[in-house]
Amino acid sequence: MRGDVSPLGPPMARRRLLAGATAVTGGMLLGVAGWAPGTAVAAARPLVHDRSTWRARRPKRRAVVLDRAPDRIVIHHSATPNSSDYSLKHAYRLSRAIQDYHMDRNGWDDIGQQLTVSRGGHILEGRNGSLKAISRGRHIVGAQTASHNTHTIGIENEGLYTSARVPVRLFDALVELCAWLCTVYDLDPRRAIVGHRDLNATACPGDAFYRRLPELRRHVARAMGLRTRMDSPPLPPHVTPHPGATAPFDHGPALGPGESG
Ligand SMILES: [Zn+2]
Repeated sequence: MRGDVSPLGPPMARRRLLAGATAVTGGMLLGVAGWAPGTAVAAARPLVHDRSTWRARRPKRRAVVLDRAPDRIVIHHSATPNSSDYSLKHAYRLSRAIQDYHMDRNGWDDIGQQLTVSRGGHILEGRNGSLKAISRGRHIVGAQTASHNTHTIGIENEGLYTSARVPVRLFDALVELCAWLCTVYDLDPRRAIVGHRDLNATACPGDAFYRRLPELRRHVARAMGLRTRMDSPPLPPHVTPHPGATAPFDHGPALGPGESG
């Protein structure tokens, strides 16, 4: 199914998501309370600022590209200050600061995550090659979720959400971004979108953001044209949550045994 949707093209290419999703998920779109299958709309690619715009450094090594789609979209918080500067310039500075930290402090090859969303709702490319890979249905291996980097794509959301509210602009941009990723990669948003804490012992993306994930999944599904009942109860997580965080504000492990940055 990946080949029949142009992620770079207009959003109007309609397709039967159900057919594709059935192939991927074994028909999981059927029979789930509050959700109904429908004709999905290929979500448009949102504006994603590539690495040249934020003047990314050259990576120490080119990222590994896998010729397959990831199966999970991992939501992180950056655990950086909850800035009230919503400008694009600030988003560029944030990406540069995160890249410096990952390369100089952590010793990684490049910025760890594939995508970054600022509190102002600006979406930026992360690790080298991410945009090109996504547009071709491929996966760039990042450094963002320990022991799961080969099959997950990570979105770093600016801020610390132990209790702070997620800015509307950030949330709206994240919906658009996830809808595009689910379209390109043929993913079912109900299953594909997870929090970092679902996979690693971490508080990331913070209690306040984690509570919004059921809502995020519903909005992404609606953006893809899947009918949902907004008053349906949150779906149970498909992965056992991992409460063993080291601190309420931690960012979580990004690399597991055998993984490199
Ligand atoms: Zn995280």
